[in-house]
Amino acid sequence: MKRRYRISVLLVILLLTCSCSIYSRAEAAFSDDPDAVERAADSVFMLEVYAANRSRIAIGSGFIAFENNLIVTNHHVIEGATYIIANSDDDERFQVERIEAADEKLDIAFLRLGKNVSYTPLQFDPNTKLKRSMRVVAIGSPAGLMNTISIGNISAFYRDKSKDWIQFTAPISSGSSGGPLLNDQGKVIGVTTATYASAQNVNMAVRASDVVKLYEKWSRQPGTYSAGTAISSGGNVVSTSENVDATMVYVTGSGRKYHLNPSCSRMKKPIQISLLEAIQQGYEPCGICYR
Ligand SMILES: [Zn+2]
Repeated sequence: MKRRYRISVLLVILLLTCSCSIYSRAEAAFSDDPDAVERAADSVFMLEVYAANRSRIAIGSGFIAFENNLIVTNHHVIEGATYIIANSDDDERFQVERIEAADEKLDIAFLRLGKNVSYTPLQFDPNTKLKRSMRVVAIGSPAGLMNTISIGNISAFYRDKSKDWIQFTAPISSGSSGGPLLNDQGKVIGVTTATYASAQNVNMAVRASDVVKLYEKWSRQPGTYSAGTAISSGGNVVSTSENVDATMVYVTGSGRKYHLNPSCSRMKKPIQISLLEAIQQGYEPCGICYR
C-alpha cells in the first residue's frame, strides 16, 4: 500500500515536470522564433531620403510604433530631407506625409504616413532593467539590404555627458539606423543608431525609455514639438512639403534612371511619368540631371 502511494506521488511529479517543459516550449524566445521575427519585420520600413534637388541623400530604417501610421527613426536619417519614401517589408512604397517630431540631440524623429496606411505598432519595453548578455534582435536595412535580421546581445552601456546608449553586438551597418532593437520578448528596447567603424560590432542604440518620453512630450502638443535644427528652418519642423505625386520626370523603357531634363544626353525617346511612379518602379536619379 505504502509502495503504491510512493509510485503515484512519483507519477504526479513526473506529470508536473512534463507539463512544465511543454509550457516553456510554447513560450519560445523571440530570437528563436522565426515566425515572430517575420511578424515584427512587417512593421519595419526601409527609408529613402531625397533632397530638394531630388537626389537621394540617405537610406535608413524605421518602424511603426505608438500609432498604426507613425514611424520612429533616427533624426540623422532624415536630416536635409525634402521628401521621404518608406518601403514596407511586403514591397509597398509610401510617401511620408510629414515629420511630426524631431529631436536632434536624442537623434530620434517621428514620421507620419498617410491616413490610409495601417500597420501593427511594435511595442516598447521601457521598464525592464537591461543587463549585459541579454539577447537582442536587430531589424533594418544595412547598405540598403531590405529588412535584414541580425542577432546578438547587450554588451555594455555607454554614457557620456549627452548620451545614454545601449551597446550591443548584433551586426548593423549604415542603413540600419532607425531600426528596432528587440529583446527576447519581442519588445523594442532601443533604436539602432550608431556603430564604431573601426571596431567590430560595437553598436549603439537609443534607449526605448527616451523614445517613449519623447512621444509623450510630443503627444501633449502634437505638431509643435521640435528640438532639432538640421531639418528645420527657424526651429520649426518642416513638413516633407514637396508633392512627389505632382512632380514629373522623364524615363525610357530600357533605362534605369529618371531624368529632370527631357533633352538629357543619356536618354532617347523619353516618356514623362510622375516622380513617385519613377521611384516606385525602381528608377534612380540620373547622375547628369541631378548633380
Ligand atoms: Zn539625365
